[in-house]
Order: sequence, then C-alpha cells, then structure tokens
Amino acid sequence: MKKESKVILGYKVERPFIISGPCGAETEEQVIETALELAKQPIHLMRAGIWKPRTRPNAFQGAGEVALEWVKQASKLTGIPVTVEVSNHKHVEAALKAGIDVLWIGARTTVNPFTVQEIADSLHGVDIPIMIKNPVNPDLELWIGAIERIAKAGIKNIAVIHRGFSSYEKTIYRNRPNWEIPIEFMRRMPEIPIICDPSHICGKRELLLAVSQVAMDLNYDGLMIESHNNPDKALSDAKQQITPLQLGELLGKLICRSTSIDDILTLRMIEGLREKMDKIDFDILDLISKRMDIAKAIGQYKKENNITILQAERWDEVVQNRMLTGLEKELDKDFVKKLFEIIHQESINQQTIIMNADTNEIKSTNS
Ligand code: PEP
Ligand code: MN
Repeated sequence: MKKESKVILGYKVERPFIISGPCGAETEEQVIETALELAKQPIHLMRAGIWKPRTRPNAFQGAGEVALEWVKQASKLTGIPVTVEVSNHKHVEAALKAGIDVLWIGARTTVNPFTVQEIADSLHGVDIPIMIKNPVNPDLELWIGAIERIAKAGIKNIAVIHRGFSSYEKTIYRNRPNWEIPIEFMRRMPEIPIICDPSHICGKRELLLAVSQVAMDLNYDGLMIESHNNPDKALSDAKQQITPLQLGELLGKLICRSTSIDDILTLRMIEGLREKMDKIDFDILDLISKRMDIAKAIGQYKKENNITILQAERWDEVVQNRMLTGLEKELDKDFVKKLFEIIHQESINQQTIIMNADTNEIKSTNS
C-alpha cells in the first residue's frame, strides 16, 4: 500500500498523525516517565492537560503553570513536540512563554464564542499551530465559528479534534460520536485536518480500538489517545487511559486503508457501483417529490374541510408499518424511523404553508 504523507499542523507526516500523553499532568515523574515510554512508540506530538476544565469543583484540575516546565522537559528528553490545552488568554500567554509547540482549545471552551475570541485576540502576531475540539453540544456552526475566529487572528496551522458530543441519554459512549457531524465538517472544510479523540468519545479503554478504526476508515488524518504510565491510578479519566505500550499495540492493530484507489480493476468496480447508486439517489428524490405532491393535495383537503394537519393515529400507524417493512428489508429500525420522521416533518411543513396561504405570518413550522 502506498504511504501517504501530509502536512498536519506544520509537521510533514505519514497518516495517521498520532497525539498521545496523559489526560492531566499530575507530577513531574509521571509526565517524564510517560514521555520516555511514549518515545518508544510512533507518536508525533505529546499531549498533557495542565489546566483541566472539570465538571465538579473537587475534581483534579491539573497541576497548573508549574507543569509547563515538566512538559517542556519531557519534550527536551524525547525530542517529541508538545501540546497543552488553553482555556483563556492567561493560559495562552504562559504556554507561549514556556515555548509549548502546539495549543489546543477544549470542548468546553469551543462552546463559548467570547472565550474563543479572547484566545484568538491573544494569538495575534503569533505563529503557533492550534487544534480546536468540537463543542460539547452537536453544533457544527459553533465549531466552524471557532475555527474562523482563530484563523482571523492570523493562525495558519489549524486542525480540529472530534471528541464526541455530550447527551443526557445514556449510551455505550461517554460522548456520542455523531459521525455525521465530522463528516459534514469534512465536506465543508476539506482543507482542515481532522483528528479523532477516541478516548473522550469512548470513556473506557475497551472501545478505543473499534472507534479508532472507524475514524481511520472515515479518512481522519490522525488520532489523539490519552496515555499514562499508570492509567488505573490516573487522577482524571482513569478508565479511558492506556499505557504507552498498550498504545503501541493498538496502533499495531489499526488498519490504515488507502484514501486513493490505485488498482484499475477495483476503480472500475467501484465506479460501476457508484453509477448505480447515483441512479437510485435520483429515483429516491423523484419518489420523495411525488410523495410531497400527494401530501400537498391532502393538505388542500384538510384546509377545505377544517381538519388538523397532524393525525397522531395515522402517523403512528405509518411509523410502525414502515419500521416493519424496513426490518424485512434488513434496514435498521432506528434509521427507518429517523428517515420517516424527516419526511413527515417536511410534509407537515408543506401542509402548514397550504393551510396558511392567506396569512403571511405562519409559513412553515420549521422556520
Ligand atoms: C482532554 O482532552 O483531556 C479534555 C479535557 O477533553 P475535552 O475538551 O474533549 O473534554
Ligand atoms: Mn481527559
């Protein structure tokens, strides 16, 4: 397989770009010991949280400014560049003064445009690579807004980190990956490298390999994985951290498939299948458009006969029935449900427009 190299954050590397290191810098020994072990693994950048935004006030919040020297020392001993998280302008100033190589903005900071702007302002005239994690909530525009603020400050080397999104609902993940959001990000900003942080998505080390593999198969540029010399004793995020040796094992198991199709036969096969797929997509759109015309005709009858748009029983029947048919066709139940919810919402929007054609105020339930 052809090795592909790419410039990520100013470093020319072969994919995947690997960032690893402890969730939090706890002691000088822990940072140095972890770094020396990590140096035996194929990593490009070492991470350590020294100011940690924590949910509860009594949790370990990182060792603070003193740890900048530990991190720099680790870099000197191993030759590996280092990155720390910054959450305000004071952090930026201290990290720049200490000569940290790369900075990252955490998920809890990306949510706040004022804080991101404060960080951006403190970066004017500075040439340092910046990584921006997704905001904790699944809001792509907020993520892109943070990138724009940092880019406007003159920062040239920017990468993003997908660390998943928090949700009240309990799932197997600590933070749901919502892969459709980073995929849409790649479509909107193809020039910005994207790194996956399986540690904060998974919350437990057992899931790391599977999520890392998904990221590789979605053509991510790199991975940020937390590692610690003694993960079970870590003062933060103990369950998701692994030893540098385990990191090496995980990377050894990862399959990095090629992003380009070099073999002409494979290319033809895939192109043939894609042509069929394109045709089906047009058919789907054609059918949805026909379905919408029917919804509009029904909307007209509802209007003339003063009937409400939503008929809950009918809708429940549709959902149940479509999910059953979907199951027979080996389609995922939740997927079919979501699909019909979107179609149904659009029918309601169209019928709302028809119902209220004479009133200017109410055009659609969705706008
Ligand atoms: C971290 O990387 O340790 C961290 C605090 O992550 P996040 O900003 O993704 O919560
Ligand atoms: Mn962490």
